[in-house]
Amino acid sequence: MLPFSRVTIIGLGLIGSSIARAIKADMPTVRVTGHDLDPQVRETSRALGFCDDVADTAGAAVTDADLVIFCVPVGAMAAAAEAIADDLPADAIVSDVGSSKGTVLAALSAALPGATMVPAHPVAGTERSGPEAGFATLFHGRWCILTPPDGTDPVAVERVAEFWRRLGAEIEMMDPQHHDRVLAITSHLPHLIAYTIVGTASDMEEVTRSEVIKYSAGGFRDFTRIAASDPTMWRDVFLSNREAVLDMLQRFTEDLTSLQRAIRWGKGDELFDLFTRTRAIRRSIIDQGQDDAAPDFGRQHD
Ligand code: NAP
Repeated sequence: MLPFSRVTIIGLGLIGSSIARAIKADMPTVRVTGHDLDPQVRETSRALGFCDDVADTAGAAVTDADLVIFCVPVGAMAAAAEAIADDLPADAIVSDVGSSKGTVLAALSAALPGATMVPAHPVAGTERSGPEAGFATLFHGRWCILTPPDGTDPVAVERVAEFWRRLGAEIEMMDPQHHDRVLAITSHLPHLIAYTIVGTASDMEEVTRSEVIKYSAGGFRDFTRIAASDPTMWRDVFLSNREAVLDMLQRFTEDLTSLQRAIRWGKGDELFDLFTRTRAIRRSIIDQGQDDAAPDFGRQHD
């Protein structure tokens, strides 16, 4: 039996439109209603046809939903939840896909007191945004982390887990604070570093911009993909996961200083040992199917 029959998606960008497309592909009898604050996004979504219905107001989108998923930037979660507060059916389950979980849960709980919440974070994405960027297979083989607050009805948790399994994801459970620390090091800090490197390169005076672009295959190019990620989404992630990001940044800065010292004093063994350890991590990621082992990271060259 399907876990839900009427799903509402608020926010029809990369993640929201991918969920809608995946539902159509994997659970075609489920009715999908969408809403986005941006009239242009609503228009595009109607034209692309990945929802059965795109409502002009958030309230109208949720009136008969049995699952509502917020797919808006984390800084917009509170406003998006307030917009449905009067129309949310009492038995609907509320979820979200926010990249940070502690502050989002607090915002959703304050706006929708008494609602059953099963927050989720599909660890899948691209550097693109908007309704055209979504695709049905985005979640295949990716982890989806559920962070239900203590005391959540286990039946509700299992329904949301089953929903994500049917979209091709694998499920992991975490408490919101642990999620935020894990993602600070695996996702948020790498984005911050990429933004820094690309920003530094673009400010350089002695190396020209055309040289940076011409020789980018030397490593820079892989940072530019991450640094092209959506500015609104990432501004919100850093502000909402502030404590964990600052803590990881402190550790990173200390490690960077010790690398600086190893280079200054010619301690090749230290560099070699670190690079050997990091190479093993890359191998584990490939072994666990979380990236492509093909040369040049599986890039297509035509
Ligand atoms: P996106 O492509 O920019 O889509 C977000 C959409 O939400 C936009 O169309 C935006 O409209 C709309 N919106 C903003 N405020 C709203 C509101 N109050 N009510 C209704 N719609 C509203 O972003 P995304 O990449 O799909 O990310 C959505 C969420 O998924 C974020 O919380 C992000 O942290 C999380 N996430 C992202 C990734 C990723 O790799 N992209 C991965 C996992 C989780 P405007 O553009 O006009 O503001």
